[in-house]
Amino acid sequence: MKSGKHVLICGGGIVGLCCAYSLSREGFAVTVVERNAEGADSCAQGSAGYVSPSHVEPISAPGMVWQGLKWMTSSRSPFYIKPRLNLDLMRWGWLFARYCTPEHRLRAAPVLAQHCLESRKLFVELAEKTGNHFEFRQEGLFNLCKSPETLAKYEKGLAALANAVGVEARILTPQQVADLEPGARMDIAGAVYFPIDAHLSPRKLMPALVALLLREGVRFHWNTHIQGWRSASGRITSLSTSSGDLTADEYVLATGSWAPETIRGLGLRLPMQAGKGYSLTLEQPRFQLKKPMILSERRVAVTPMGTTLRFGGTMEIAGHQDQVRPERVEQIASAAQHYFPDMRTEDFAGVTPWFGYRPVSPDGLPYLGRFTRLSNLTAACGHAMLGVTLAPITGHVVAEVLAGRKPSVDLSLTHPDRFA
Ligand SMILES: Cc1cc2nc3c(=O)[nH]c(=O)nc-3n(C[C@H](O)[C@H](O)[C@H](O)COP(=O)(O)OP(=O)(O)OC[C@H]3O[C@@H](n4cnc5c(N)ncnc54)[C@H](O)[C@@H]3O)c2cc1C
Repeated sequence: MKSGKHVLICGGGIVGLCCAYSLSREGFAVTVVERNAEGADSCAQGSAGYVSPSHVEPISAPGMVWQGLKWMTSSRSPFYIKPRLNLDLMRWGWLFARYCTPEHRLRAAPVLAQHCLESRKLFVELAEKTGNHFEFRQEGLFNLCKSPETLAKYEKGLAALANAVGVEARILTPQQVADLEPGARMDIAGAVYFPIDAHLSPRKLMPALVALLLREGVRFHWNTHIQGWRSASGRITSLSTSSGDLTADEYVLATGSWAPETIRGLGLRLPMQAGKGYSLTLEQPRFQLKKPMILSERRVAVTPMGTTLRFGGTMEIAGHQDQVRPERVEQIASAAQHYFPDMRTEDFAGVTPWFGYRPVSPDGLPYLGRFTRLSNLTAACGHAMLGVTLAPITGHVVAEVLAGRKPSVDLSLTHPDRFA
C-alpha cells in the first residue's frame, strides 16, 4: 500500500540501498542521495562478503583494550589505532574501553545474533527474487586455528557464546576440515565451523541492487554531495546538497563512516571512527575454496567469489587516510602463506590492494532508529564489520519504524542517542 510519504536516503552504500529496497516495498516514495557516481566503489564492494551470524561478539570485546594497547606498538598488527591528538578519537577510545566488558559481550551477543539471523533470511529472499546474480552461497564458515591454544580459546569463547545464543558452532579436527574443504592444503590445529554462515560476491550485489531499485521506482541523485541541513521545530525541513536543496517527509542517515560529519551542525552526537581495512583479490588463484574462512590468529578473511579468491583484513583506526600502507597489506599476504603452505609470495604480486572504511561505533553495535531531537531523521549506520550481513535487516527495520510498526528485532541497544 502506498503511504504517499517521501523518504530521502543519505548515502548509497549497501546499507542505504537496502533501506531504499525495504522502504520502497513498504510503499514510500524513495530517493537516494550519493556523492559518488553510479557504480563507484563503496565499503561493501571490497569486503569479504560474509553474511555471518557467527559474528556474535562485538568488536568491543573483553581483553580488547589490553590487546589493542599491545597492538598499538606495531603498525603491522591486525588492529591498529594510530595515536593522535584528536578529541573525537579520545572520546571514542574512552567509550570503547568502557564497553570491552564481559557484561556488554553477553548483552550484545543475542541482539547481534537475532539481527544477523533475520538478515540472512532476507538475503535468501533477495537471492531468489534477483536470480542470485550476486552468488549468495550457504556454505558455512570456518575459523581456522593454527595453534591448539587458539582452538581451545575459541572453543571456550566464541563457539560457546554462539551456541548459547542459537548460532551453531562445531569444533573440527584438521581432517574434518579437510573433508569439508578438499580444495586446499591447510596447516592448522583445527577449526570452529559455523554451518549457518553464508557469503556472496559484493561487486555483483551492488549493481544487482541498484537495478532492482530502479525497477521498483527508486530515484537516485548520484554525484550529489550532502552539505548541510535545515531544521525547525524538532524536524528536518530540507537537505542542502551540491545539486540544491532537497525536501522529504523523512530522512535516513546511511553515510557509513562519514555519518558524524554528515550531521555536523545538527547538535547530535554519534561517536564513530573509520576502521580502515584492505583486501586483495586473486583473479586466478592457485587453488579455489568452496567455503569462506577466517585465519583466526591473523584475523584475515578468505572468501571464494566466483572464480576469484579474496583475502581481506586489518582494522586501522587512523581517520579517513587514503594512502595504502604496504606493511598492512603484506600482513594479509603473509597470513595466507602461514595457513596454506602451497601459497607463494608471488601469488599476490601485482594485485592492487583495495581499501575501505568500516563505520565503527564504540560499543560495536549499529546506530538504528529515530533520533529523539529530530523526529523525522533515522539513523542506519555504524555496522562496523557487519555492514553487509546486517544491511537487509537494517533496511527492514527502518521501513518498520517509518511505517509506525513495532520493529521485528530488538532495538534496545541500538538507539542513536545512546551516547548523547
Ligand atoms: C576489508 C573489509 C572487509 C569486510 N568484510 C565484511 C564482511 O565480510 N561482512 C560484512 O557484513 N561486512 C564486512 N565489512 C564491513 C562492511 O563492508 C561495512 O560495514 C559496510 O559496507 C558499510 O556500509 P554502509 O552503507 O554503512 O557505508 P558505506 O559503504 O561507506 O556507504 C556510505 C555511503 O555514503 C556516501 N556518503 C558519505 N558522505 C556523503 C555525503 N556528504 N554526501 C553524499 N554521500 C555521502 C559514501 O560515498 C558512501 O557511498 C568489511 C569491511 C572491510 C573494510
